[in-house]
Amino acid sequence: MEKLKNYIDGILTTPYSNNYINNYDPSTGEVFTMLPDSDKEDVDLAVQYAEKAFPGWSELSAEERAGFLFDIAALIKKNLDEFALAESRDNGKPYHLAKSVDIPRAVKNFEFFASAVTQFSSESHFTSSDVLNYTLRQPFGIAGAISPWNLPLYLFTWKIAPALASGNCVIAKPSEITPLTAFMLSEICIEAGLPRGVLNIIHGYGHKAGSAIVSHPKIKAVTFTGGTKTGRAIAGVASPMFKKLSLELGGKNPVMIFKDCNYEEMLETTVKSSFTNQGEICLCGSRIFIEKEIYDKFRKDFAEKVKALKTGDPLKEDTDIGAIVSKQHFEKILYYIDLAVREGGTIICGGNPVEIKGRCKNGWFIEPTVIEGLDHKCTPNQEEIFGPVVTLIPFETEEEVLEMANSTEYGLASVLWTGDLSRAHRMSAKIKSGIVWINCWMVRDLRTPFGGVKNSGVGREGGLEALRFFTEPKNVCLKIL
Ligand code: NAD
Repeated sequence: MEKLKNYIDGILTTPYSNNYINNYDPSTGEVFTMLPDSDKEDVDLAVQYAEKAFPGWSELSAEERAGFLFDIAALIKKNLDEFALAESRDNGKPYHLAKSVDIPRAVKNFEFFASAVTQFSSESHFTSSDVLNYTLRQPFGIAGAISPWNLPLYLFTWKIAPALASGNCVIAKPSEITPLTAFMLSEICIEAGLPRGVLNIIHGYGHKAGSAIVSHPKIKAVTFTGGTKTGRAIAGVASPMFKKLSLELGGKNPVMIFKDCNYEEMLETTVKSSFTNQGEICLCGSRIFIEKEIYDKFRKDFAEKVKALKTGDPLKEDTDIGAIVSKQHFEKILYYIDLAVREGGTIICGGNPVEIKGRCKNGWFIEPTVIEGLDHKCTPNQEEIFGPVVTLIPFETEEEVLEMANSTEYGLASVLWTGDLSRAHRMSAKIKSGIVWINCWMVRDLRTPFGGVKNSGVGREGGLEALRFFTEPKNVCLKIL
């Protein structure tokens, strides 16, 4: 069985403890690789090498650093098929999705920040005719990056690329549930000749390796994507140490559908916003609010389309819904479906585990599930399920839907379907979320600020926001004598 390795000081290394964690293929329920069970010793070692690498890396010109990032991007692109296959086996997502979305986006993350850093500049101004102020934007040293399992390489590189582009060294930890493409990235970095110690990838559990990154005094900033509960624990450790923190956390995104929308476009996109990647995207809409006049029509048309989705082997081209990432998450989703029924909900379609014949007979699959009849305040409509489960809720007025949409502790993304431009602007200003998609979903421009409000997070990623996060502004004030 292949044992993955850490990437420290440019070399693939075994963990200090010599212990390993089983890594499961969720489509078969079988262990297919093992990953290092790293702890504080591994993180300490990585920090020592990152410290050594920092002066050389930060003193390169932006173009020189960008050159390495472009080379990494090109090598991932060259190995697109292998990366897509690894992502699909690790996460359970359809291979065609990994190949068309996840891996190309990881390539883009490197390319985007390689270009962006060469366009990044800071401000200067005269305060009076003899006083000049200017701002230096300097990398701070070592950044910690911790990412989740749902979009493994996509989110991992979304953090690493801007941190490296800005001149920092990085200690990064992928999710212990999906380590494979992060390991492959270490091999690519070696091939690309990335200077040793600039990027260090440590595998292992959150409470061991992750927590050692967060609490290390020489790691000056932590960028984290994952659950709200974990984010709170990380903030509890990092805030008293005055670390810079970027936290991208959970969501319970509303989709608000008005009768004046482009119905066909809305229907098509709402199926995607509900069930892409098994509903395991932080941006998926999980609560669908529909204007009363079109509720019955929507309910029927939506259910028809959802029933036509094919749940099955992630490696097959015609699979729409792959496997749920882990047994534990599979059980959590089924718990919420059961709870929804106990709280008075009615299942319109789905609701059950799916048994797939052949290779995937022991995998973890759940039918795409649509539930109605629940109050917007009940637990399944307030807590994050993060699976192929959506609820339908009718509404009558703009005020009513806004109140229901804003009623959770979360505020990551929202989707609004309407043909009324005034309403679109009016509501966008009042929706409590970091992202509002009007008449579309998951349309991403990497220059835009990305992140949530309320318990969905603190800080923003993307474009200049990321480059600002990974640099420290310093004011220099000069009196001209
Ligand atoms: P998680 O919080 O369990 O784990 C995320 C990462 O944190 C993993 O690498 C884990 O090992 C690590 N970790 C766990 N405990 C830690 C600790 N005490 N200290 C340091 N690191 C620790 O989340 P998950 O289950 O992997 O991912 C699903 C969650 O991620 C969902 O809530 C989803 O909404 C959220 N998410 C948010 C966004 C966003 O952009 N806001 C994007 C994707 C996923």
